[in-house]
Amino acid sequence: MSSASDPAARAAELRELLAYHSRRYYVDDDPEIGDDQYDALYNELRDIEAAHPELVRPDSPTQRVGGEAVDRLEKIRHLQPMLSLANVRSAEELRAWVARMRAHLAREGIDDPAFSFVCEPKIDGLAISLLYRDGVLERGATRGDGEIGEDVTHNLRTIAQIPHRVENAPALLEVRGEVYMSLPDFTALNERLAAAGQSTFMNPRNTAAGTVRQLAPTLAARRPLSMLAYAIGVTDGLELRSQWEALAWLRDRGFPVNSEIVVRDDEEAVVEQCLEWERRRGNLDFEIDGVVIKISDFELQRRLGAVGRDPRWAVAWKFPPTTAKTRLLAVRWNVGKFGDLHPYAELEPVHVGGVTVKLATLHNEEDLARKDLREGDEVIVLRAGDVIPQVVSPAPHAVENPSRSPAPAPPERCPVCGTPTVKSAGSVFTNCPNADCAGRQWQLLRHFVSRAAMDIDGLGETLVGTLLSRGLVGNAADLYDLRAEQLLELDGFAEISARNLINAIDASRSRPFHRVLFAIGIEEVGYVTARSLANQFRSIDRLLEAGPEQLVQTQGVGPKMAESIAAQLAAPALRGLIERLRAKGLRFEEEGPAPGEGPLAGRTFVLTGTLPTLTREQASERIVAAGGRVTSSVSKNTDYLVAGESPGSKLEKAERLGVSVIDEAALLALL
Ligand SMILES: [Zn+2]
Repeated sequence: MSSASDPAARAAELRELLAYHSRRYYVDDDPEIGDDQYDALYNELRDIEAAHPELVRPDSPTQRVGGEAVDRLEKIRHLQPMLSLANVRSAEELRAWVARMRAHLAREGIDDPAFSFVCEPKIDGLAISLLYRDGVLERGATRGDGEIGEDVTHNLRTIAQIPHRVENAPALLEVRGEVYMSLPDFTALNERLAAAGQSTFMNPRNTAAGTVRQLAPTLAARRPLSMLAYAIGVTDGLELRSQWEALAWLRDRGFPVNSEIVVRDDEEAVVEQCLEWERRRGNLDFEIDGVVIKISDFELQRRLGAVGRDPRWAVAWKFPPTTAKTRLLAVRWNVGKFGDLHPYAELEPVHVGGVTVKLATLHNEEDLARKDLREGDEVIVLRAGDVIPQVVSPAPHAVENPSRSPAPAPPERCPVCGTPTVKSAGSVFTNCPNADCAGRQWQLLRHFVSRAAMDIDGLGETLVGTLLSRGLVGNAADLYDLRAEQLLELDGFAEISARNLINAIDASRSRPFHRVLFAIGIEEVGYVTARSLANQFRSIDRLLEAGPEQLVQTQGVGPKMAESIAAQLAAPALRGLIERLRAKGLRFEEEGPAPGEGPLAGRTFVLTGTLPTLTREQASERIVAAGGRVTSSVSKNTDYLVAGESPGSKLEKAERLGVSVIDEAALLALL
């Protein structure tokens, strides 16, 4: 009998297919079929099961949603306690830990053990335990206090990444992992909630933990939770020798395992890895608060044992805290380069994320109102990685204070030039309408000389302010008239430094057209749009002639934006600046090949790690100049991954997908 006419066989086949594709999607990050095809398979299985209820199996993907709600979360005792880890906070403490292990093993008669350290980013989520009997998920529990947790099986079943069935599993298998919400998922969830007029969540960790501990599984099924497995707990009959092998086994059986995890052979390499993740923590898709470091070898783990509940063979390297409480002294306003007023917070100085923070961004008026911040409030400040510090919210008790200040309002006069401010319909910003406002001029010039624009070395924001206030320059074109003698009159300049700055200004005349276009400051035209416009129109004259109907044909330019760009390009002040800059010898024509031409035409590149001589921006610029494309993530459509030092997960993915991996030298050869 064919499977089409045998519902039981077809249901089994569909379950297997769905498990396979769900694994390609969630675990391998390399889907073979689209969402609609997946849905079609899913719907077919659901229909068969509806017609033949006797075929419904607890491990069917259809059973992931709509399970029974529970009255309360039952307490369960873990078969084996879930350990807690001792913390280290510095390289010295990590070295001391390794020395203690060596001393302990020496007493056991093991001299000079060869350690392999498995380094795992410590995701800020909720630790869970999954118990499988004969390969079928029986129970999922929170860590609780390590001995006693809570039964949250009904919610964990809704997480698509958690396998309901494990092939070739031992009779008893406990898998431990972390449930979390990725940052993109968290942002998208909050956007959906905000769009529906509902209140948004404070942070991904609490959202994930709160969701897993709900009584009704319908909520968990609708929230985008993820899981990463990191250890095997109790089991029988598994012959694994190390943590590294255990991770490979888990991955092999369909459990998602963090692809960032690495093995390091000595403690200095471990320290380096920890510091690298600390630097990158603001750029990962998930929040991490440290690194878990484990001795990989299970026999060594056994010999090392535990002190109380802390194993000797593992520690958690803790990052400095990224949030802190402090007082919001005042809300102040910055003038942007188009007159837009941006609120920022002046704070009582507080130590957070390894630095002292006195100022923090408040984004815009809407954000300020949504967070309900008032001057004098105690507030939560966040600083992660190299991200600009921001005020997250008032401290919980602050909002109950009956004598809070009124909500801060944008100023009625520009804080720099005193011109009455305006708020136009449809803008989220209150504006200083004075085009000659010193605040605006400073921002425009600061932007002009910045690294991504004209990249004038040695011309920082303080010096820009001095040049403007001394009347040495009024706008960007005046920079090219500056003479070394004029600089010598300023504090801190000597012959050589003055000469160097003049040379740096001179050198900027050779920047390509798209950077000049970005530098002159057109509202809504960021670096990428400037590059697209330069690519499309090739010269300033053609761009100045273009109306909205031509501009809208540029990649990334919508109809509203096209109108706005055309209006700005028609303004006499900007035209005057362009003509003066052109007279100074700046480039207003795009050189190099048009799109679809050049030695790298049609090739797609991804960059990762630190290259020996080029920065990523330089490498990317040269690839684009040669007709190639640069994207941020590796896929089947990637032609080359250019990998430098410390390449991270993109390298693994490229190798898995068979993408050519080249180094900087090979890239330069292609160019
Ligand atoms: Zn102003």
